[in-house]
Amino acid sequence: MSIIVSNVTKVYGEQKALDDVSFQVNKGEILGFLGPNGAGKSTMMKIITTYIPPTEGTVSVVGFDCMENSMDVRRNVGYLPEHNPLYLDMFVKEYLSFIAGLHKLQDKQKRVDEMIGLTGLDREQHKKIGALSKGYRQRVGLAQALIHNPDVIILDEPTSGLDPNQLADIRELIRTIGKEKTLMFSTHIMQEVEAICDRVVIINRGKIVADGKAEDLANQQKRGFTIEVEFDKEFDINSLRNINGVKKVRSLKGNSFELIYEGEADIRPDIFKLAVDKQATVLTINRKELKLEEVFQQLTR
Ligand code: ADP
Ligand code: MG
Repeated sequence: MSIIVSNVTKVYGEQKALDDVSFQVNKGEILGFLGPNGAGKSTMMKIITTYIPPTEGTVSVVGFDCMENSMDVRRNVGYLPEHNPLYLDMFVKEYLSFIAGLHKLQDKQKRVDEMIGLTGLDREQHKKIGALSKGYRQRVGLAQALIHNPDVIILDEPTSGLDPNQLADIRELIRTIGKEKTLMFSTHIMQEVEAICDRVVIINRGKIVADGKAEDLANQQKRGFTIEVEFDKEFDINSLRNINGVKKVRSLKGNSFELIYEGEADIRPDIFKLAVDKQATVLTINRKELKLEEVFQQLTR
C-alpha cells in the first residue's frame, strides 16, 4: 500500500475540514480524489505531503509516518500544490536546477534535462516562468514534482484553469506519469475522473461518501434516467414535475426540458399522453441512464 489514511480529522479553529477520513491508495494506482469546493481535498493533500499535521488520526506514505518521519515522506513524494507557487522571475531551467539543488540530486543537469523532455518544455526551457501560459506553468510544476523521482505523486487540481487543448495535454501527461508511479490527483470536475483514472474517492464536507471503481459507483446508486424532451410549443413545467417518479425538471433552450427520475420504468409514454392532453406535439424525446456525473451530484448535494 502506498498511502494509508486512517481516521484523519482536521479542525481549523471552529471549522472541521476533515471528519474521520480513511482510505488507501495502492501501489501503481491512479486515484481521483473528487469533491466540490470546500470538501477538504487540499487539506487532505497537505497532510499527506506533511505540510500540515492532522488534528487526529495517522497517515503513512510508502511505510513512513507523516508525523514521525516527515523527511522520509517528503523524499518519496512529489507534490503539485493547488496554487502552484512558482518563481515568475526565474527561467524554467534555472528554476528546475534550483529545485534539483534543494533535493541535493547527483547529476543535477541531467535530471533537469530529463524532466524538460518528459514534460514537453523543450521549447520553453530558456523562457522566464512568468512568460509562460498557464498550461506550461503547470508543466513546470509537474517537472518540479517529479524531479527527485518520487514513488508517490500528489497533484492538487492539476487541470483547473486550463483551456481545452492544454487540458488534453496535461491529462495525457498525468496518464503517462501514472504508468510508473502511484498518483493521486484532486478535482471538482467529474469528467476529469472519467478521463484519467478508474478508481475514485469522493469527499463531501470532510467525509468520504464513496470509494471504488468509477463504473461500480455508478451501478451502486439507485437506478435513474434523464429524459430530454422537446415540444412544439410552450409547455407547463409543473405538469412534467407531477409525473410519477420524476425528481427534477429543468427547462432547457426553446421548448425543451430535462427530467430526472428514479426507478426502472420507462415514462416516455406518460410524456406522450401528457402532450396529447395539452394539445402539444413531442418533437424529440431521448432517454439516458444517469452517468457518474449525476451520481456525484446525488452524493454531494
Ligand atoms: P477543497 O480543497 O476541497 O476545496 P479545502 O481543504 O481547501 O477544500 O478546505 C476545506 C474546508 O476547510 C473549507 O471549508 C475551507 O474554508 C476550510 N479551510 C481550509 N484551509 C483553512 C485554514 N487555513 N483556516 C481555516 N479554514 C480553512
Ligand atoms: Mg482545494
